[in-house]
Amino acid sequence: MTPAPGKIVCVGRNYADHAAELGNDVPAEPLIFLKPPSALVADGEPIRVPPDAGRVDYEGEIGLVIGNRCRRVAESEAWSHVSGVVALNDVTARDLQRSDGQWTRSKGFDTFCPVGNVVDASAVLPERLTVTTRVNGEVRQRADASQMVFSPRHLVSFISHVMTLEAGDLIATGTPEGVGPVSPGDVVEVALSCGSAVRNPVEGGDTLAPDR
Ligand code: MG
Repeated sequence: MTPAPGKIVCVGRNYADHAAELGNDVPAEPLIFLKPPSALVADGEPIRVPPDAGRVDYEGEIGLVIGNRCRRVAESEAWSHVSGVVALNDVTARDLQRSDGQWTRSKGFDTFCPVGNVVDASAVLPERLTVTTRVNGEVRQRADASQMVFSPRHLVSFISHVMTLEAGDLIATGTPEGVGPVSPGDVVEVALSCGSAVRNPVEGGDTLAPDR
């Protein structure tokens, strides 16, 4: 079942190699932004490239599903508030991200948040998770959570000190080195070592997802 979050909280520049590949420094604190839930699509549904959006990139990420309402959670308690782990693709219109400054449009198009099957978080050690992204079957990104600047537990704690997290909310923990563009006809897959995966064809045409 696809998660139905009230909000999707994303983390930028959380792997040093990825920050460097786009010419950015690693932030001193987690850099967070929001994606709208209307961007969600499930495994197999198309990612739609908007016309005139310029370069559109995949960003394979480890996604966390919040299990219960929480705020000001200590890092040592953080994982007990995570109920699920999902493969997530933080699809990004890279040219618009640069030209807008604010990231809402570039990250917020319909279909720009594919999310895979939910794996029970209680069976997962977050530090051991590995994320792999493939385009047309070819590996483009591979990293494990130990390479993150801020760990999954730290991120849950940090974000919960900014905003109340509700059951079902999603956290996207950032993408590693190796981002790149996709075009209509490509197939992108993000897979986690815990068994969650999401695979989506890239299509052109109408950017608004079909009503559901
Ligand atoms: Mg991202």
